[in-house]
Amino acid sequence: MEYDGILLGSGHNALILQAYLGQAGLRTLCLERRLIAGGGLATTTDSRGFRHNTHSFYHRALTSMPWYRDLDLARRGAEYIEPDLNVALVLRNGDSLQWWTDFDRTLDSIARFSRKDAATARRWRDRFLPILEEILIPESQAPPLPWRPELEVSKLSPLEFVLQEFEHPVVQAGLLFFNGLREVDLRAPGFGHHIPALLAAKGKAQMCKGGSAQLAKALVRAVQESGGELRLGVTPRRIHTARGRVTGVETTDGEFIASRMVVSGLNPRQTFLELLAPEDLPAEWRRKAEGFRFNLLAPLFALNLTLCDRPRYRASGLDGAFMTILGLEHSSQFLDIVECHEHGRIPPTVMWGSCPTVFDPSQAPKGFHTAFWWEKLPYRLNGNPSAWDEAQRAHGQAMLDLWAEYAPNVKDAVIDWTTQSPLDTERTLWNMRDGDLLVGALSHGQVGFNRPFAGAGQYRGHVQGLYLCGGSSHPGGNITGLPGYNCAQVVTADCGLPGPRRQVL
Ligand SMILES: Cc1cc2nc3c(=O)[nH]c(=O)nc-3n(C[C@H](O)[C@H](O)[C@H](O)COP(=O)(O)OP(=O)(O)OC[C@H]3O[C@@H](n4cnc5c(N)ncnc54)[C@H](O)[C@@H]3O)c2cc1C
Repeated sequence: MEYDGILLGSGHNALILQAYLGQAGLRTLCLERRLIAGGGLATTTDSRGFRHNTHSFYHRALTSMPWYRDLDLARRGAEYIEPDLNVALVLRNGDSLQWWTDFDRTLDSIARFSRKDAATARRWRDRFLPILEEILIPESQAPPLPWRPELEVSKLSPLEFVLQEFEHPVVQAGLLFFNGLREVDLRAPGFGHHIPALLAAKGKAQMCKGGSAQLAKALVRAVQESGGELRLGVTPRRIHTARGRVTGVETTDGEFIASRMVVSGLNPRQTFLELLAPEDLPAEWRRKAEGFRFNLLAPLFALNLTLCDRPRYRASGLDGAFMTILGLEHSSQFLDIVECHEHGRIPPTVMWGSCPTVFDPSQAPKGFHTAFWWEKLPYRLNGNPSAWDEAQRAHGQAMLDLWAEYAPNVKDAVIDWTTQSPLDTERTLWNMRDGDLLVGALSHGQVGFNRPFAGAGQYRGHVQGLYLCGGSSHPGGNITGLPGYNCAQVVTADCGLPGPRRQVL
């Protein structure tokens, strides 16, 4: 039997694409190496009923995504919560800079640090609202065009933009923190517009009720209800071709599965160097795939905790804070963090996290809680990724100690905790090389039409019938679903089928 399409990896991008292909009438199969589908949409449940979101948790503006609506994911079980006090950067003196879903409340908070900065934030937000809605959002929700809109502020780096426009170091630090969450290198020219775009963005951080894996389950339902199949615990060994066309996939068990199309949700090194035979790809493509870069600053270290009480902060007004940032007091810390990453050292801790059960009690037994903290830390600790296996317990303890300085009750409230290092990320999700959760740097020209590299930016993989749909493609990683959504536009157009079409070259 021959499939119309085989998808490699069951990350959310691949599942979104697969659901669209099923709706278009194609017969598809997704092959996933792990025993669970969803990639970065992962929630574990322990024997006591505590749920931990071990990869993604903050799903920004997810309910505004076109695929969320098209695939009817709310009805299929992915419901979202968007707390009003979305983010609080908590200072040692008990003050906090707060981001609310209501922009005026955010401005009030900024004004407590600097009235001038609040006025600047309003001006840039008003100026960028139409740019975001008419240019930047449409650009992210369609296959990229060879040219990009030239915005004046884009010439700057995020760091230059923030230092030029804002005066207060805490406001500067807060804005650069958000820039970092999207894994944009703060020193990279060409990304200055990210800061005003952040200010103009209406959609804030959201969490999936029941845990991030609920979105994966809803996507799997959408796939299966459209006739798509999934096989777990299956690893592809080779993408086979004949006369320049894809013919199917051979697995590491030696099985050959015929298909006239293969869509890879993996990174370009896996797709082009590990799965295609060298003779199937021009030398230039191999060279570009070899040159594909992963992010230095994306790897996360995670501390996941189970608690018998919620955190109670010394500072007032933080009970409803969704994401809390600790350890960040001044914009100058970012340059230290970058330098430490370059040298494989652990910088003074800046960490952020949540207590999901405050907003969704279903994620722990009644009266109990879960929490997590994340910190950006280098993959090669002292030059050696395996050094994490020795160092991670002590670092988890250091993070817990830091948390207790702000919320003293947590020392007694902690029942147990685990850690996950950047190396553990790579061990779990093989496509996240070097622990890069964005699956490819958003620098070195790897953006837009040139993501993952020049020539492969239209989701097509040189060999006929080979496509790319993961976070290594435009507009990049994180839980946006847009690489999968955009790839669906290209594949359905190439097949002459109905699909979520915008602009396809
Ligand atoms: C600790 C952590 C926290 C994060 N937090 C957030 C967050 O809060 N918000 C956010 O938006 N993003 C977050 N991310 C990033 C986000 O999870 C990823 O960018 C996103 O999951 C990428 O989606 P994807 O569809 O490209 O593939 P992935 O989700 O990476 O899935 C790829 C799939 O392919 C499978 N695979 C890999 N290699 C093979 C192979 N050879 N054969 C078969 N299958 C294979 C993997 O097992 C996986 O299931 C986080 C990531 C990590 C690690």
